Amino acid sequence: MMNPITGRKYVKTWQADTLWPFLEDHYRLLEKDLSEPIIHAYPLFKVLPDIDSLNTWQMRLGDAAYHKYLQDNQPSSLEGIDLVQPHGGFYINKAYRVDGLALLDASVRRWVAKGCYQKEVFDLSELTYDGTSVRYRSIRAKHIVFCQGHTISSNPFFLDIPVSANKGEALIIESKSLPKDIIIGHQVNIVPLGNDRYWVGSTYAWEDETIAPTAAGKEGLLDRLAKSFQGEYLVLDHLAGLRPASKDRRPIIGRSPKSAQVACLAGMGTKGYSLSPYFADMLLDALFNQKDILPEVNLARFV
Ligand SMILES: Cc1cc2nc3c(=O)[nH]c(=O)nc-3n(C[C@H](O)[C@H](O)[C@H](O)COP(=O)(O)OP(=O)(O)OC[C@H]3O[C@@H](n4cnc5c(N)ncnc54)[C@H](O)[C@@H]3O)c2cc1C
Repeated sequence: MMNPITGRKYVKTWQADTLWPFLEDHYRLLEKDLSEPIIHAYPLFKVLPDIDSLNTWQMRLGDAAYHKYLQDNQPSSLEGIDLVQPHGGFYINKAYRVDGLALLDASVRRWVAKGCYQKEVFDLSELTYDGTSVRYRSIRAKHIVFCQGHTISSNPFFLDIPVSANKGEALIIESKSLPKDIIIGHQVNIVPLGNDRYWVGSTYAWEDETIAPTAAGKEGLLDRLAKSFQGEYLVLDHLAGLRPASKDRRPIIGRSPKSAQVACLAGMGTKGYSLSPYFADMLLDALFNQKDILPEVNLARFV
């Protein structure tokens, strides 16, 4: 999910005004290129938990910088569903669901067809480099960019990078009583996937670096779902993953201090879908066109 207004204070997510036009163009172009629907625009109905939140939202309504993301002047409620919404809620524009699986599958098919994709564990001991190029087995290139999630911090080219694993769990449910084309933001986010299926998430845990879903994670999600939605549903699946979270919650991109040919794109945290298109583009511009990297995301801040 990509949501421009986040947190309890309903503030614009970091760099929203820059990221949103970029990612809208980027995903539309990808859809065209891959001939696959990837991005789905849904209004996000944010449930107001209490009177204080209502006041916070009304304050945002008075700020012109928020107008393109907010729709109504009065709280509304979602009719015809068993949603817990005593104070109503409000709509956020420009929220999206990205179909990550469709994107990955179609991209891999495209790269395989072009002969530029191999699925294997990367073996660092086979990487060599000099001042102008890198070589990995039979492949010679100007640069290599490591995009390896939370394991970047054990890569010897990037040992100083503070990235840790933040475990997240989510459920896939089936229900005929939820809206098919609205994301609900409540104690959990409920995101329509089509065919009466919904993604319900998520959890945040620091201590557990396994990718197995846990009973505690499921229980917590079901509990929060029950406080949000009281209609009927069936749990179809339970998923878990590890988010690559940086210390200052900003992406980390740039060249390794050990070699200008070796770079990383890391630390996308909870927002990989909205951050990575823009910052991947920025990194390529730095590698190939000697453009500057925004100091807030530059790997140089940690070395
Ligand atoms: C429950 C949950 C909910 C989320 N919800 C959202 C959301 O709503 N919106 C959003 O934008 N983001 C969301 N995220 C976060 C998002 O998934 C991350 O920001 C994103 O996955 C980061 O992408 P990445 O490619 O940097 O890292 P990863 O997704 O971790 O991918 C790194 C890849 O590198 C591979 N790899 C590592 N080492 C090697 C090696 N030596 N050789 C070969 N391959 C290697 C790994 O196997 C992995 O496939 C969520 C994450 C979770 C877990």
